[in-house]
Amino acid sequence: MTDKPFASLKAGPSYEFSANRQPKCPHCGSEYVIEDHDAWQLYDENDTHDVDCGHCGREFQVTSRASWTFSTDEQDALDDEEPGHEH
Ligand SMILES: [Zn+2]
Repeated sequence: MTDKPFASLKAGPSYEFSANRQPKCPHCGSEYVIEDHDAWQLYDENDTHDVDCGHCGREFQVTSRASWTFSTDEQDALDDEEPGHEH
């Protein structure tokens, strides 16, 4: 572990710090476990959040982004619908 700020991020590759299930500290590379820190504010994707790394204690910013998916593969049977019938 080094004392330089963002040492882990600069050591790269930077994509390892992008779109993770848990934020990764850019200083020391430790995973920031949201549950352990009760950091539920990170699930607000409209803002950038400052957090303190639980491992090295330094502050870094987390940008949150949710990804939505939509499924239509499970449908209730539409028994009362007759084929070709227009509503
Ligand atoms: Zn850290």
